[in-house]
Amino acid sequence: MLLRDAHNRIIRDLRVSLTDRCNFRCFYCLPHGEPPLARKETILTFEEIVEICEIFVSLGIEKIRLTGGEPLLRKDIEVLVEKLARLKAQVSRFEVQSSETENPKSKTQNPKLVDLALTTNGFSLKERAENLKNAGLDRVTISLDSLKRKNFQRITGVDKLQETLEAIEAAKKARLTPIKINAVVVRGYNDDEVLDFVCFAREQNISMRFIEFMPLGAGHDWDRNSVVSGREIFAKINRVFPLQLKEKSRGAETAWKYRFVDGARGEIGIVAPVTEMFCGACSRIRLTADGQIRTCLFSTTEHNLRDVLRSNSTRPEIVEFIKDVVMKKEARHKINDANFMQPVRTMSFIGG
Ligand code: SAM
Ligand code: SF4
Repeated sequence: MLLRDAHNRIIRDLRVSLTDRCNFRCFYCLPHGEPPLARKETILTFEEIVEICEIFVSLGIEKIRLTGGEPLLRKDIEVLVEKLARLKAQVSRFEVQSSETENPKSKTQNPKLVDLALTTNGFSLKERAENLKNAGLDRVTISLDSLKRKNFQRITGVDKLQETLEAIEAAKKARLTPIKINAVVVRGYNDDEVLDFVCFAREQNISMRFIEFMPLGAGHDWDRNSVVSGREIFAKINRVFPLQLKEKSRGAETAWKYRFVDGARGEIGIVAPVTEMFCGACSRIRLTADGQIRTCLFSTTEHNLRDVLRSNSTRPEIVEFIKDVVMKKEARHKINDANFMQPVRTMSFIGG
């Protein structure tokens, strides 16, 4: 049985926010260190997260990304990673209905987790990369919005460029690969650094992803003029370092991926949710730290899986709840509509 929504999209990718706390103060996300919204008793325990993930994997989820807030602020995350990594061995399929299987492989195999990843600002990764790898983490995405110390501080609110660069080194050493670097490009902040990032990707042989600024910050300071479009980013790079699309279709991926025509190492990814909506192929669903399912980054409603789980529901009841929620997944976001309303919860809560 696969998770399919009302628009015939199959859900394969679960983003799990482990905390809505963060030690950075990125101006586009959590500028003033707003007090965490989730209370201690409402935060899912590791046991609950593992139970939920196991059910999701039995329903066809293949990728799990741990995020937040800053996921490495969650104590003993290595223990959670170790438990989740066990889902890479097969888990029992729940209520097999072979007529519904899409993937030919799943007709003969039980479902299993294929990819366990983590998105982090790099905090404490230097010391923990090796242990995370040993616990079963496959790869990391590290956020890096500037290569200049002062500008990094201006954007993130903290003076930690050096630590973030060391985190990237440590991730490479621990083989948490392929490593992706996320940079949110905002006009007037770091749009003049795009080519520096490209050189960095070529030197370091990493995948550099440029992301359009989205209206998800606690400061509510998004405006359309600050968005540097994916098209503009592409043109800027392509003029100096000609790019070639890696694949004609990006499937359910958010990024268009490019290689360098001159054969240099590294990869460029451009994620343009504002100017080139990719909702039609979305395969993602999100779980907040306090156990709410969000069917879209921009959802204005949430679905309380935590209470279902804590009310001694049977497994079939939990599965039914999840299937019903998935059916309600929005066809598309409405950033470009006149009546767009920013979700109350910010990216740090939803889990990027
Ligand atoms: N704290 C971790 C980090 O920064 O990598 C994980 C959580 S963070 C919310 C996940 C990703 O969302 C980061 O790469 C961040 O840059 C991105 N992000 C946050 N707010 C955003 C916004 N308003 N527009 C676009 N991307 C955003
Ligand atoms: Fe923290 Fe990540 Fe948000 Fe920056 S983007 S404030 S590091 S959660």
